[in-house]
Amino acid sequence: MSRPVIFAVDEDAKSLHHIERELSDRYSRSYRIVCLASAPEATEELARLADAGEQVALVLAGERELLGAVRGHHPHALRGLLIDYANWGHDPTGEVIFAAMARRQIDYYLIRPMRAPDEMFHQAISTFLLEWAHAQRVSSHTVHIVGEAWTGRAYELRKVLGRCALPHAFCLADSPEGRSLVAEVGDGKPLPLVVFPNGEVLADPSNAELTMAAGGPVSPGGRDFDLVIVGAGPAGLSAAVYGASEGLRTLVIDGGGIGGQATLSSLIRNYLGFPRGISGRRLAEEAYEQAWVFGAHFAFMQQATRLERSGDRVSVGLSDFPDVSARAVILATGVEYRRLEVDHIESLALKGAGVFYGGPSTEAPAMADRDVFVVGGANSAGQAALHLAEYAARVTLVVRASSLDAGMSHYLVQQVEASPNIDVRLNTEVVGGGGDGWLEQLELRRRGDAGPETVRADALFLMIGARPNTDWLPSEVLRDDGGYVHTGLEAGDAPEWPLQRSPLLLETSMPGIFAVGDVRHGAMNRVASAVGEGSIAVRLVHDLFAIDRLSAVESRP
Ligand SMILES: Cc1cc2nc3c(=O)[nH]c(=O)nc-3n(C[C@H](O)[C@H](O)[C@H](O)COP(=O)(O)OP(=O)(O)OC[C@H]3O[C@@H](n4cnc5c(N)ncnc54)[C@H](O)[C@@H]3O)c2cc1C
Repeated sequence: MSRPVIFAVDEDAKSLHHIERELSDRYSRSYRIVCLASAPEATEELARLADAGEQVALVLAGERELLGAVRGHHPHALRGLLIDYANWGHDPTGEVIFAAMARRQIDYYLIRPMRAPDEMFHQAISTFLLEWAHAQRVSSHTVHIVGEAWTGRAYELRKVLGRCALPHAFCLADSPEGRSLVAEVGDGKPLPLVVFPNGEVLADPSNAELTMAAGGPVSPGGRDFDLVIVGAGPAGLSAAVYGASEGLRTLVIDGGGIGGQATLSSLIRNYLGFPRGISGRRLAEEAYEQAWVFGAHFAFMQQATRLERSGDRVSVGLSDFPDVSARAVILATGVEYRRLEVDHIESLALKGAGVFYGGPSTEAPAMADRDVFVVGGANSAGQAALHLAEYAARVTLVVRASSLDAGMSHYLVQQVEASPNIDVRLNTEVVGGGGDGWLEQLELRRRGDAGPETVRADALFLMIGARPNTDWLPSEVLRDDGGYVHTGLEAGDAPEWPLQRSPLLLETSMPGIFAVGDVRHGAMNRVASAVGEGSIAVRLVHDLFAIDRLSAVESRP
């Protein structure tokens, strides 16, 4: 296969010369560099490359219109808008760049290189190339799964790798790629096969074996801790970073892997410090690494099943290991998606047969040229539709409300409306559907219509609201009618609160147990607020320990 192309267009001869020199010096071993001075010539060449079946990874140009047209020929190419140094506030302004991103003409901007070597330019190029490699599943860290079908065990293994925030790709055993992998490493082993980048091969592994091979610890590695955090989503990971960095012996347990709901988000655009956005998977990986180097312990694939106070310690029951205990516990268990409760659709969802709860970060590449439906009217559904539109032939967003603005941020509404292959069906619900082994059709009912309409559908992504993961908690932890945990003053007002002092800000009605992130009553449902609460809770844990020390001194005879 020929090298993927990095393509640059600039009418300024001097600038084009700098760009060509920088690109050729660094990338010409792995990529073919094509640099042209004229936009019409570039458009022709892009069409010619598409006809010749060549892969274009990245296109750089100063013209937004040219970049906007690239996807017509190369749907997966990333597009960087070249701007001049110190041109902020002139054309293009931040507003223009944002609008071009919203209309999906460009992916981001970068500054034309100046003196060689221009490391800022290369940082931008490497970021684009890494994003492209991840999306195309060609990054060197990609784990490959080979299975007999997209559904069943192969689907479950893909879900486990997704929860470990590991980039992975799937191929069928009877595809050319599958046959070559089986011939190379299969050696008569049972399918599905999981092939790691370091050459390790697992044949039909259990979830725990796969998690361990992916570098995720499963055993808590001890029984007594200062702090146990339940949930490794953004709130739990943040608490882990602060807890471990401030000297607390900290254990994080999660029923899956890292990242929680954030791993479902293909691009988080509103988290501070990431102007071009960051995928939830990447954010989770970085946060996990940060907590780990500070010394936090992790136990994945462990469900917390019980919470019980004995004296000044709290014990937490685990699904596969003996209880662990701590002086304080932070609940960061987030939420889980509501079910659609249409029997045929639920049974397809269980097998991963074209019906998926949550965002499409893992499944999106498999949706190439398909007719895909997303149900939901919130930001998560908007993001999912946009991400799927990069691959699918047509995406239909099914929304119960009568307008998109009712539940979605304005910038996402703009992007959805500007996407030529996204249809929006308002006032509409999914009331039925099915298929033989894989989703084939859906029944949609529009408010006011007599009967449902049957439409052909290759896949359905459900993002229809959430339910907190709190069923396992004891009655001492007060919850609202929806199951969300009360904290602070609300917890103190409850008859369950047993102490003279008031609860601390994020403390629940069970002293020493804190709740943070989406699981909390009144949560903001944002990554940033979950992360903020994780850090605040650790500060409150220190305050709690100080109160306990003080009362121990006061009660001394
Ligand atoms: C598709 C999508 C896109 C989104 N986009 C954005 C965005 O662009 N910007 C933004 O700010 N927010 C976004 N959000 C919201 C954001 O992801 C959440 O607000 C955030 O993840 C909440 O973090 P959390 O740690 O509280 O909970 P979660 O992320 O839900 O994590 C909870 C963790 O607890 C674990 N757990 C649950 N119960 C147990 C148990 N009993 N034992 C052990 N472990 C348990 C779960 O396995 C999970 O890993 C998006 C959400 C989705 C779904």
